[in-house]
Amino acid sequence: MNTLALLGGQPVYDRPFTPYNSMGEEEVAAVTRVARSGKLSAFIGAWCDDFDGGSEVKGFEASWAARFGCRHAISVNSNTSGLIAALGAVGVGPGDEVIVPPYSMSATVVAPLFYGGIPVFVDLEPQTFCLDPAKVRAAITSKTRAIVVVDLFGHPGALRELRQLADEKGIYLIEDAAQAPLATEFGRYAGTVGHIGVFSLNYHKHIHTGEGGMCCTDDDELALRLRAIRNHGENIVEPLKIADITNIIGFNLRMTELSAAIGIEQLKKVDRLVDAREAIANRLTEATRGLPGLTPPRVRPDCRHVYYVWSASYDEEQTGVAREKVVAALAAEGLPVSQGYVEPLYWLPVFQQRKAIGRDGWPFTLTDRAYERGLCPVVERLHEKELIEVHVCSHLFTEQEQQAYVDGFQKVFANLDSLRKS
Ligand SMILES: *Cc1c(COP(=O)(O)O)cnc(C)c1O
Repeated sequence: MNTLALLGGQPVYDRPFTPYNSMGEEEVAAVTRVARSGKLSAFIGAWCDDFDGGSEVKGFEASWAARFGCRHAISVNSNTSGLIAALGAVGVGPGDEVIVPPYSMSATVVAPLFYGGIPVFVDLEPQTFCLDPAKVRAAITSKTRAIVVVDLFGHPGALRELRQLADEKGIYLIEDAAQAPLATEFGRYAGTVGHIGVFSLNYHKHIHTGEGGMCCTDDDELALRLRAIRNHGENIVEPLKIADITNIIGFNLRMTELSAAIGIEQLKKVDRLVDAREAIANRLTEATRGLPGLTPPRVRPDCRHVYYVWSASYDEEQTGVAREKVVAALAAEGLPVSQGYVEPLYWLPVFQQRKAIGRDGWPFTLTDRAYERGLCPVVERLHEKELIEVHVCSHLFTEQEQQAYVDGFQKVFANLDSLRKS
């Protein structure tokens, strides 16, 4: 058997991986056209034709709504902005509780704080790494205003069940679908099942506009509130006769015409780009199925997973080799892999020190909720012991690069004995 590179053997791959790049001549032409027009943004923060942006922004939103089958698509300058707008639109206010998962990009759990909302962390369901709907139900109190579900790694959350739960309780379901364009659950797109769904168009995602985001909703009232929050809402309350002005103040979350023009071209390619990521992940899954101690990503039968991240669970009890050692061995073979995603988000200083807005710790002054270690045991175990990930949207994965992963995983797992002894 080949000696592991970690123990002095030859690595399976010794070249840098090609960065993922979805930009083509179409995007270059679109940017050039907009740049030549001189109109890089058309938004005006007062009531007029351009309150909702220029022709590229409106065109991108119309294409997005058509592709995802939602009534309204409202562009913003990031997913973070979209989440802030969404929580504002549904009226989150000081002391309101917002249920969030402990694994995501930090923006998901910090967004409620801007309105004085209190993030309430609920643990993940260990098969799909998304919010556990039974635990969400148990966490709802009279103070709960919204649930934010994340379609983590590209697998849809329990969207239908959580939407039913939200409707039953008279609260809102917001979807953070940043990692999951074209993922589906029961035939419906992730990002279109909640009251509002938010996509990211930042550089690291399946499709992107540099920075950017898109909010989807079927609700006319929420759409109006999102548009108002995006663009200095206080100025248009009177012309638009917005009756409830809660949270309708003061942001500029607008997308430029340049970004929107790129977005129009990216959206035309989204099927091809997502299909390609899915095929790469499926190949890795097939190649790693049955390796000792390793469980490749599981996909619920009613779902499509779009693999922002290929996330396997590893059981070091079964193999007797610590995850750290396996990951070091894979890395030594020349493969970019990571372990444990981000830290459980309630470990962040903002929650540990209970200090967000102002010097006194508001809004944590409005709650007794604690953010102690051990709060979400499933995610802590995933983080500390179990998850091994390949970031499918970080590299192009040429044929040789895909084969390197197949060979590297098989080589390392065939040599666990030598790692055990090392
Ligand atoms: C990328 C990401 C975000 C942040 O998106 P931005 O567009 O950079 O603000 C939020 N949530 C999740 C789950 C993400 O993956």
